[in-house]
Amino acid sequence: MHLSRVSGALPITRVVGVARGALCGRRDGPDGWPSASGWSRSPSRASTGERRGCSANAAAASGDGQSICGASNTGENRFAGAARDGGQPPRICVVGGGFGGLYTAIKLEQLMWPKGSKPRVTLVDQNTRFSFKPLLYDVLTDSATEDEVAPAYSTVLAPYSVRYVQGTVTGVINDDDAEKAVLLQDGGRVPYDWLVMAVGARTNSFGVPGVEEYALQFSTYDDAVRLKEELAKFNADEKNRNRGAEVCIVGGGYAGVELAASLVDRLGGKCKVRLVTSGEDIMEQAPEGQREAAREVLVADGVSVLCGRLVEEISVAGGASGDGKGTGKRIVQTTDKVSQSRKEMVEADIVIWTAGQSPALTGEQRNRMPFKVNENGAMETDRTLKVVNTRDVFALGDVAIGSQQTLPSTAQVALQQADFVAWNIWASINNRPLLNFQYQHLGNMMSLGASKGAVALPIPVPPPVSAALKASPFGDILKAAGVSVNTTFGGASDGITIQGPAGALLRRAAYLYRQPTDGQRLSVVSSWGSLLQERVKRGDFK
Ligand SMILES: Cc1cc2nc3c(=O)[nH]c(=O)nc-3n(C[C@H](O)[C@H](O)[C@H](O)COP(=O)(O)OP(=O)(O)OC[C@H]3O[C@@H](n4cnc5c(N)ncnc54)[C@H](O)[C@@H]3O)c2cc1C
Repeated sequence: MHLSRVSGALPITRVVGVARGALCGRRDGPDGWPSASGWSRSPSRASTGERRGCSANAAAASGDGQSICGASNTGENRFAGAARDGGQPPRICVVGGGFGGLYTAIKLEQLMWPKGSKPRVTLVDQNTRFSFKPLLYDVLTDSATEDEVAPAYSTVLAPYSVRYVQGTVTGVINDDDAEKAVLLQDGGRVPYDWLVMAVGARTNSFGVPGVEEYALQFSTYDDAVRLKEELAKFNADEKNRNRGAEVCIVGGGYAGVELAASLVDRLGGKCKVRLVTSGEDIMEQAPEGQREAAREVLVADGVSVLCGRLVEEISVAGGASGDGKGTGKRIVQTTDKVSQSRKEMVEADIVIWTAGQSPALTGEQRNRMPFKVNENGAMETDRTLKVVNTRDVFALGDVAIGSQQTLPSTAQVALQQADFVAWNIWASINNRPLLNFQYQHLGNMMSLGASKGAVALPIPVPPPVSAALKASPFGDILKAAGVSVNTTFGGASDGITIQGPAGALLRRAAYLYRQPTDGQRLSVVSSWGSLLQERVKRGDFK
């Protein structure tokens, strides 16, 4: 994954985690932020402005959050006051409790608000648990507990006054002169003055027949648990256990490669894992040092990689039966990417599709959004992360696309954007200038099984320094410690890579630090203790 950044320049009431930025040797805020002196750490003046009239009581009164706001917002549509009519606090609704939404909600709570103006933040998510997606592989290798990978919102948000509402958002009303509310599938509405859209991404099958029916997905905590259950079901049969599972992973990006290494770890030597990718190589966008580390592990694990192959269809031997999914072997029909004439078939007991993701809004949901959503389901934002042509809607993470800059769909981007969205809402409410989002790439981290990882740090190493290091006695020491140095700097493919157990440790430490709250960090550390005890009992360290 990608190391995360410090939010040092924000007027937060406390800095969460002393190690912020330490992993990357920096503690500065994003480039281009005004100097700290330009910002008041404790904004003292509640700005005045037109207030809205939608009864906050409906929202505030309902503990379960299924509040209906029937009152209309009248008058001037710009809400730029610290408090609404009757001293009611502004209402902020955050849709989607992932890296973008959950961290925005928490940061909004941590900002210092002028007296009496602290907003009422509501977080709406269809699930009851946050998914720390970069740790899904660790679920497969039993090296992370549910508490670490998928803590319940009720636990994570316990220290804050953020209200959590479980619900699937199906549409939004954003009428300055009437009502502003988020519409839920069960008919409920959550009124808002400020809206944050952070619904993330979903698996995209690109219309390949059979993907939805015969392949598993690997994008949420539930997907990881389902995969574990499928593997257990397969292994419950002694014949199967003796021959070992055949698994086909479609997609040669980070997810496919990390999954392959984790599966070999889980299933042991008898399994046969094949990776099918349309690329000429695995992880084509990754830094070279990290790709090299991944190649080494896949070769050692006996994973076959089929490059340059497009999947045309996935079917089941013997046809679909019963639940429509069939019980026979899965057949992955591929063709070569260039001439598309050389067909090749891969048979497997389990197929996992990691080949594509697209923004989470479905066609129907898109039509019920009062702002522009492009044909891929992404919401276009300006540089402040405000959705274009809106005054009070922000979007971030995988569902957002910048009008100026295309960014990778990563937790690192979503986390950095959360700082800015929280700040920009604070600034809007308090009549302060908004900040343009600036992305700062801090490196990439990946898992290569339970005890191996590869962390690429974008630390520039000029060619003469790199050559001198390699030729010196330090070269061997670095190599033995799992550190490789790339010779140039300038693109995503250069820098320093730390691999092996050191890479795995660094990755887990960074994710510990990235947990959403201090309480969560403590709980994770204690869960490591229990995991260790279990492994000792199992005799893993004999
Ligand atoms: C297997 C895997 C591994 C990954 N590893 C890494 C990694 O190592 N490093 C990295 O930087 N990135 C990684 N990513 C990408 C990263 O997880 C995403 O980019 C990041 O989660 C995006 O944050 P988000 O807030 O936009 O979306 P998410 O974190 O996906 O959160 C979206 C939330 O919205 C909710 N939601 C969706 N639709 C609705 C709706 N209609 N109503 C209510 N709630 C809704 C979902 O339940 C979810 O909780 C990985 C992704 C996957 C799938």
